Amino acid sequence: MEAVWEFVRGNWTVPIEILILAVGLYYIYTYLEGTRGARILIGLAFLVIVLTVVSTLLNLVVISWLLRSFSLFFIIALVVIFQPELRRALTELGSHRLFGSAFENRETIEEITDTVFDLAGKGFGALIAIEREINLKAIAETGVTIDCEYSKELVLTIFQPKTVLHDGGLIVSGDRIQAAGCIFPLTQRENLDRNLGLRHRAGLGLSEESDALAIVVSEETGQVSICHNGIIERNFNVDKFRNRLSHLLLLEKYEDRADPDESLEA
Ligand code: ATP
Ligand code: MG
Repeated sequence: MEAVWEFVRGNWTVPIEILILAVGLYYIYTYLEGTRGARILIGLAFLVIVLTVVSTLLNLVVISWLLRSFSLFFIIALVVIFQPELRRALTELGSHRLFGSAFENRETIEEITDTVFDLAGKGFGALIAIEREINLKAIAETGVTIDCEYSKELVLTIFQPKTVLHDGGLIVSGDRIQAAGCIFPLTQRENLDRNLGLRHRAGLGLSEESDALAIVVSEETGQVSICHNGIIERNFNVDKFRNRLSHLLLLEKYEDRADPDESLEA
């Protein structure tokens, strides 16, 4: 009995440590899930674990030594690789908003639908991203911060071909316009329709790298497309667009990634 008590007294902090580590790792994982950084992190972790296990089992002295000596280097590499995510996380901690804003506003969907088809009618090209769970702050920082309540008039003004801000993408977060003139990541896919230029590639690229929706209005054809989860759906009319947008934003937070080749016919 005495021995058990001694053991508990000596080790009572261990479960607390495990709990803190587990919660911390879980939050890091959910935070990075779906970003490009997550894939790099999983790759690196896998490599380090495999190397550690192999070198311990086979008693590979040099590899063990290298792993130990390079651990500091690994940590610095992680900070560099995750610099955008870390900056985003710190900014959010400051603003008490941990996991991006869930989109819950039917009125905004109606307004966006109106805006998109007005843009198409006027022959303006446009690229509008709607943030979901994954925060788009890092991308918003490539443009000009606006941070105001959503307004159709403002979006139409921004995408006037003669304005300074019309180039690039606009980011909507909840019922607010966060930024305009933002540079989205371009998709690297090679099997895309030849008619899809940079605007469509930027919308698709953003939907590959985050869970955001990207709405593209073509300047050349007036066609409206929605990119989500790395696929592009094209040729919407007003009613289909409104339904699809409500479905994607209100019902289906997490759609499975469809096969990109199949989706092109959509
Ligand atoms: P459209 O049918 O409207 O012509 P498109 O897919 O053919 O579209 P482009 O003609 O290449 O595309 O459109 C160029 C416009 O796309 C640029 O003026 C710019 O506003 C936008 N654009 C290009 N690259 C990016 C990017 N990385 N992020 C955001 N917007 C971009
Ligand atoms: Mg074009």
